[in-house]
Amino acid sequence: MNLKGKTALITGAGRGIGKTIAVKLAESGSDIAVADMNPVSDDVLSEIEKNGSKCLTFQVDVTDVESVDSMVKQIIDAVGGIHILVNNAGITQDNLFMRMKPEQWSQVIDVNLNGVFHVTKAVIRTMVKQHSGKIINISSVVGFSGNPGQVNYSSTKSALLGFTKSLSREVGTRGITVNAVAPGFINTAMTQALNESQQEAILNQIPLGRMGEAEDIANAVAFLASDEASYITGTVLHVNGGMY
Ligand code: NAP
Repeated sequence: MNLKGKTALITGAGRGIGKTIAVKLAESGSDIAVADMNPVSDDVLSEIEKNGSKCLTFQVDVTDVESVDSMVKQIIDAVGGIHILVNNAGITQDNLFMRMKPEQWSQVIDVNLNGVFHVTKAVIRTMVKQHSGKIINISSVVGFSGNPGQVNYSSTKSALLGFTKSLSREVGTRGITVNAVAPGFINTAMTQALNESQQEAILNQIPLGRMGEAEDIANAVAFLASDEASYITGTVLHVNGGMY
């Protein structure tokens, strides 16, 4: 995929899947802006920049509208535009529904859904002006299959489908595509938090017999961000080893 001349903003890219997406898009030639809750480490920065791409980093909480708006303004002032937006930042606060606290519900909604609204809202105007843009939302297999203990999380991940489909219909004539990638179970801190028996139960459901790697998701995102995917919009790419 050739992304030379593009700038990509990736949220939650300080580690995990987001970091791997940032590295992959940089390897494909894109300049990168990384937004993360915590300062982005020098190691991550040098991995992104190793092939000559520029990387801007921002310590930003996607639920904080003012800092999101200010970050987007700074990126546009620095490089002139944003061509690719990957809404990747996400959290879990698992609990069985009967025990789920209102804060566990609202915090997950705030980051995984309201965060996508705030960042996309801040970026869309520049994409409309450019007459081009690729928005890629990171959903999840559990937004489609459901998962006990994740009523909050899976609600946000299926809501991203409605978001993706509706927005794609609004902005298609402006040359902007909006798609989602729905990862299965991917080997990151989020899934390493599961105990051994939960991990084994998951593996038994995966026809390809392994957990996914962050690179599997980054490859799908790089494709959707590329010109090769220019006639694809409003859809979900499931990357889950066949489990759903
Ligand atoms: P992760 O390792 O927990 O990384 C999440 C990243 O998001 C971290 O860098 C975190 O920052 C950042 N973040 C969290 N809240 C944020 C906020 N309010 N503002 C800005 N950044 C924030 O998770 P992951 O496994 O890479 O998951 C990435 C995405 O893939 C998520 O949307 C997740 O729901 C989705 N997904 C993951 C899996 C999986 O199996 N891992 C499966 C399906 C979907 P800090 O490190 O600074 O806290």
